[in-house]
Amino acid sequence: MELCDKKEFLIQSLVSRGYLRSRDVIEAFRKVNREDFIPGEYRRFAYEDEPLPIGEGQTISAPHMVAIMTELLEPRKSDKVFEVGTGSGYQAAILSLLVKEIVTIELDRTLYERAKKLLSGYANIKVFHGDGSKGIPEESPFDKIIVTCGSDRIYSAWKEQLKEGGMLVVPLNEGYGYQKLAVARKSKGILRVRRLMDVAFVPLRHI
Ligand code: SAH
Repeated sequence: MELCDKKEFLIQSLVSRGYLRSRDVIEAFRKVNREDFIPGEYRRFAYEDEPLPIGEGQTISAPHMVAIMTELLEPRKSDKVFEVGTGSGYQAAILSLLVKEIVTIELDRTLYERAKKLLSGYANIKVFHGDGSKGIPEESPFDKIIVTCGSDRIYSAWKEQLKEGGMLVVPLNEGYGYQKLAVARKSKGILRVRRLMDVAFVPLRHI
């Protein structure tokens, strides 16, 4: 099967399993080629529903996880979104078609440089190098924050840099290597956190 056929097959499967629901999100999955964000040897597996290595010990999330997190974020055309963990850049590319602006930060320099190049054609994505647990004060406030690495906690910078009524999606560490995907909403300055499902992300690091 050609990659483009595999892509449509995967999208149909994500729809039938209930991971992809919104018309615009489905369209974004059609427009962005996942293979463009995967280094050489793994490219042919781009439309398997699996996480894949992107180098530096990191992974591109499985398509169903990108679908779940994108749908949870309820992207709006007016949103400014902050992503912690650019990785391959795929999640940022998907979101960029659904919102006004994406600000994404990657800790690893090699991945940062690769993603910056890959995303240079997307006018509404800004890629930063650094530790996303501190947020990016000069780019804040954000309507939404998406964290794509497993975090021990919700950092105060995220809460502070989120707009009133804003939403945060974050995998919160539970046990070794596993997290609960959590959604938090900021209301009257307080975050109300809902823990949803077990997930497995690479860990958030500080160096
Ligand atoms: N959203 C990515 C998933 C990448 S995996 C994609 O679509 O491919 C998570 C990424 O988070 C890894 O690349 C890892 O290097 C990065 N990361 C870990 N700790 C970080 C931190 N404190 N700040 C920014 N990025 C971090």
